[in-house]
Amino acid sequence: MTGKILKGIAGFYYVHAMDGNLYECKAKGIFRNKNLKPLVGDDVSITILDEAERKGNIDEILPRKNALIRPSVANVDQALVLFSITHPEPNLNLLDRFLVMMEVQEVPVNICFNKIDLTGDEKMLELKQIYETAGYPVYFTSTRKNQGIKEIRTLLKGKTTVLAGPSGVGKSSLTNLLYPQAEMETGTISEKIQRGKHTTRHSELFDMGDSTYMMDTPGFSSMYIEDMECGHLKNYFPEFEAYEENCRFLGCVHIGERDCGVKDAVEEGTISRNRYENYRLLYQELKEKRRY
Ligand code: GDP
Ligand code: ZN
Repeated sequence: MTGKILKGIAGFYYVHAMDGNLYECKAKGIFRNKNLKPLVGDDVSITILDEAERKGNIDEILPRKNALIRPSVANVDQALVLFSITHPEPNLNLLDRFLVMMEVQEVPVNICFNKIDLTGDEKMLELKQIYETAGYPVYFTSTRKNQGIKEIRTLLKGKTTVLAGPSGVGKSSLTNLLYPQAEMETGTISEKIQRGKHTTRHSELFDMGDSTYMMDTPGFSSMYIEDMECGHLKNYFPEFEAYEENCRFLGCVHIGERDCGVKDAVEEGTISRNRYENYRLLYQELKEKRRY
């Protein structure tokens, strides 16, 4: 039977199988031949060892579409990054870091600002301007007033989405709105895991039905940029590309060079100054890191 790994912990994998049941599986045999470790999100083929006890073994990992390193999950279609528009104020530097991280891993990102019931249109327009200009779809929600939720539901449908965002922005509120069973099902898996007595938080994929899966990513605020050469950073700010042909120097990194198309675009307002300043900060950070 085939299924999807929703959670992996202490050598056990929890597989949501085609029959609708959740099987606690080991992965005996698959390590021997290939250097392949099962990941949350993997589609797998399993043998049921004990139907009543819902125990099985993973025989094979089916071909992956992709495999992210941070968070560790396979077959991701997109990310949804959630910030609150206020309370707390969105940390756009953190958001831009996250965008770079996802660009590196080639995952399309959608941005959502929550708590719009606490602010006016002006702030929404400003953020929409910054991020749509950079090429990212921008959504606005209020989980409290149930605004914009339908659009998010449509966005997620039929896809596997990684949900990320710092704490306090409304991730739980949104998840509970979209998927009220979440808490209950977490309970089911937790019951099985009790025996392993691990209480640390692990990544888990929620099956929302209709081939829709969502994964909440713990530890967002500690996310850092990969150990990248500073000269490569510009490749992960997609809005720069169109202006690079106006740079005088080949390989211009848009920092100290004269006659730079990207810097001109910032002056003209066609590239967001906020994004560009965060680019400079990250560039400096990567440069310093490589000096030691
Ligand atoms: P998480 O830490 O990202 O999971 O955030 P929570 O869902 O726990 O929400 C954090 C706080 O923000 C709670 O007090 C929520 O009631 C509040 N909150 C969440 N969504 C909204 C919203 O749309 N509007 C307002 N005003 N408050 C919200
Ligand atoms: Zn340049």
